[in-house]
Amino acid sequence: MYKLEEIIKQFPMLDGSKTMQGHPLVFLDNASTTLKPYCVIKAIEEYYSDYTANHHRGDYDLCYKVDMKVQEVREKVAKFINSEVNEVVFTSGDTESLNLIAYGYALDNLKKDDVILLSLEEHASNTLPWYRICELTGAKVEFVDLEDKKITVNRVKEAFNKCKNIKIVSFAHVGNVLGYEIDAKNIANVVHEHGAIFVLDAAQSVPHIKTDFKDLDVDFITFSAHKMCGPTGIGALIGKYSLLQKMSLFKTGGGMNVKFNKNMEVIPLDAPYKFEAGTLNIAGIIGFGAAIDFINSIGLDAIKEHELELARYALSRLESCKDVVIYNKDSNSGIIAFNRAGVFAQDEATLLNSKGIAVRSGQHCAKMIDEVLDTIATVRASFYLYTSKEEVDIFCDNLIKGGDILDAYFSK
Ligand code: PLP
Repeated sequence: MYKLEEIIKQFPMLDGSKTMQGHPLVFLDNASTTLKPYCVIKAIEEYYSDYTANHHRGDYDLCYKVDMKVQEVREKVAKFINSEVNEVVFTSGDTESLNLIAYGYALDNLKKDDVILLSLEEHASNTLPWYRICELTGAKVEFVDLEDKKITVNRVKEAFNKCKNIKIVSFAHVGNVLGYEIDAKNIANVVHEHGAIFVLDAAQSVPHIKTDFKDLDVDFITFSAHKMCGPTGIGALIGKYSLLQKMSLFKTGGGMNVKFNKNMEVIPLDAPYKFEAGTLNIAGIIGFGAAIDFINSIGLDAIKEHELELARYALSRLESCKDVVIYNKDSNSGIIAFNRAGVFAQDEATLLNSKGIAVRSGQHCAKMIDEVLDTIATVRASFYLYTSKEEVDIFCDNLIKGGDILDAYFSK
């Protein structure tokens, strides 16, 4: 039994006191970021109030305690994603993880006319680092053809048949606009058969579905803690150890080296530490660990089922509303991308805001998605482990009722 009431009680943002425009808050922007439970906030507070010290910096008890905590979280992340502990690099989040692969791996390994395969549905963070690498190396980006808006194994095979120079393939595991999950394991097979490497941008999957690094056999996985009840400014890059060891340094400084001398010779630590220059986001790491414990206490299977149930319910309610155009009815996620006919997405989001409902509108950082959807902007409602059926009802009621954008300004 999914104990939703108990779960909701863990979130101060859901204590009933938070409002927007005078209405109780209905937070449906979870693909963007998620709310934080007390246990995460407490873990961070404890670090600041009870055992503040740096990591790897001192020979005293407090410092040792921090070292142990950081190591404990690295082990937790590894267990959560099923990687080896030394395959977990702490980064500031998904975006930094992708940049680390781009600058640490791609810059060294790509040359003129090599190809990076992306899709038109990718987030800016899984597009722009690759564009930059192309500028620096003369490599090119190609886009995989989609099959009914989806990336499929067959289309990836076709891409390799058409283009012999693909060296890197980088796709979102679950898209942040339409919520489609790709068949990462079989795509990884195809990519490896052709000697390329596969990067899985898992910002939208790790918080919602079991994502098994070893089983999927991808080369890199990237994600952010803030999309899974954790703090902002922390995330991870998971990479096959042999690749991490070969990768060039991206950031350098304290904490990532064994030794350096006046001849400018630097001996870096082994991966993952060689990528972690400077004082780590220790509070963030500790909060990240608490977020993983929290998610584990509910279970990813139960979370996924809860989100799907809500999505199915919302779709069943919106089905009869001819004014609402839904772009991803067949999505297996808690994301609903829609527009109200004749209403610009941002106007619709403003109208929903006037009723206390938080949704995202626009292109959701996936700025080429208009080529896939034939619309320049959509509204996105995204559910998470604490979303209730009542909240989905408030959202659907307001959507079905409609209203004029001017209502957002003149009616309360
Ligand atoms: N990739 C995808 C698919 C995303 O949804 C996001 C965030 O929305 C990102 C990358 C970037 O994540 P962050 O801003 O946490 O680095």
